[in-house]
Amino acid sequence: MAKLKQLYAREILDSRATPTVEVIAILDTGQYGVSSVPSGSSIGIPDSSELRDNDPNRYFGKGVLQAVGHVNREIAAKLVGMDFSTVKEVDNILNQLDGTPSKSRFGANSLLGVSMSVTKVLAQAASLPLYRYIATLAENSSQLFIPTPVFNMINGGKHGAGNLDFQEFHIIPSRKSTFSVMLQTGAEIYHSIKNLLVRRGAIHSVGDEGGFAPNLFTNLDALEILSEAIIECKKQPQIDVELGLDVASDSFYKDGRYTIKDRSSPMDTSEFIEYLRDLNKQYHLRLLEDPLHENDWKGWTQITSELGQNTTIVGDDLLATNLTKISKAIAEKACNGAIIKPNQIGTVSEAIAAVKKARDAGWKINITHRSGETNDTFIADFAVGVGADYAKFGAPARGERVAKYNHFLSIDTEISSTR
Ligand code: PEP
Ligand code: MG
Repeated sequence: MAKLKQLYAREILDSRATPTVEVIAILDTGQYGVSSVPSGSSIGIPDSSELRDNDPNRYFGKGVLQAVGHVNREIAAKLVGMDFSTVKEVDNILNQLDGTPSKSRFGANSLLGVSMSVTKVLAQAASLPLYRYIATLAENSSQLFIPTPVFNMINGGKHGAGNLDFQEFHIIPSRKSTFSVMLQTGAEIYHSIKNLLVRRGAIHSVGDEGGFAPNLFTNLDALEILSEAIIECKKQPQIDVELGLDVASDSFYKDGRYTIKDRSSPMDTSEFIEYLRDLNKQYHLRLLEDPLHENDWKGWTQITSELGQNTTIVGDDLLATNLTKISKAIAEKACNGAIIKPNQIGTVSEAIAAVKKARDAGWKINITHRSGETNDTFIADFAVGVGADYAKFGAPARGERVAKYNHFLSIDTEISSTR
C-alpha cells in the first residue's frame, strides 16, 4: 500500500513548442514520480479527448491550464491521502471522476499525466525498475527484452515540411543483433540518408519526428533512398534491414478516394490496394501501418488477407488504442498488428488492456511515441514491460526521440546483466 501525499501539475512545452501537461506524484515516503504527456497530429476516432483551453490569447488556443487545474484541484482533492496498491485503482477513480466516455471533462492529457506519474512512484514503492513494475501490471512473466526499433527516417504527410503524402518511412533493423548494434545501424543509415538527399539536391530539413522532410517526385522515391542508404552502409536490404511505412492514409483520403503524387488521378480502394501490392512486391515491407482510411473496413480486411502473411498490417488511426475498435478489427480480420499509444486511451491500465486484447488475437504489438513529445522516457519502459515486438520512437535524432532510444540502452544493460 502507498499513500499519496501530494499531486500537482504544471504546463510545460512539448517538442513542437506546444503546451502539454506535466504531473508530479509524491508519496508520504518522499518518493516521487514525474511524467509528461505527448500529443499527436494523426488522430483516429475515438482518440480520447485532449483538453485544450481554446483561449486565443495564449498559445493560439493550445494552452492546457484547464487540464492542469483539474489535476491540481478536483483530482488531487480526491487522490491525496488515499492508500492504493495498483495504478488500476487510481485509473478507475480517474475514469469515475471524469464520467465521460472520451475523458472529455478532465481531458486525457490530465488523466494520463496522473496515471503515468502514479505508475512511476508505485514502481519505486515496490523497489522495482519501472519496466519491471509495468511487466507485473501486464502480467508479463516472460523474459524481458528490448523491442525492435522502428526508425522513422523520412517524415511526410502531417509531420513533414516536404511534399510527400505518406507520413513515415521506416527502417527496421533485423533482430539478429543486440539493441546497441540496431541503434548504431539506425544512426549510420540516418547519416547516409542525409548525404543522399544532399547529393540529389532535395531539401533535407527535418520533420516533427526528427526524420528528414525532403521534396521528392514520388513517395516511392523515398523508399528508394532508404534502400540506397542501407546499401551505402554495407547492409543488405530485406535481410539486415527491412522497410516499413506509416501511410496515415486518413490524411489524403477524400470522398472514397486516395490522392497521392505517385498517380495522376485519385484511386478508389481497390486501385489503391493494387498500388500498395505493387509497392510491397518491390520493397517487401515488414510493417504497413494505416494503409487505408479508418472507415474503409472492407479494404482493411482485403489488404490483410492479401498481404498479411509476410507483412504486418498495422492499425493506428484504425484502432485508436480502443478496446471496442480492436475487437471489431479482430472479428473482421482487418489487421494483424496494433499501434498502442497510451494517450489515445488516456490511462496506463487501459493501454495495458489494449495490448492484451491485441496480443491474444496473435497480433504484433508496436508501442509508439507521438509526434509532439517530451523527454519523458515512460514509453520505453512501457514497451519493455508489456513485451512489445516493436517500438516506434521516431528518428535516431533530436533529444526527445533519442531520450527514449538511449533509455533502451540503459534498460538493456540491466536486463542483460540479470539474465
Ligand atoms: C503515428 O501516426 O504513428 C504518429 C506517431 O503520429 P502522431 O503522433 O502525429 O499521431
Ligand atoms: Mg500512425
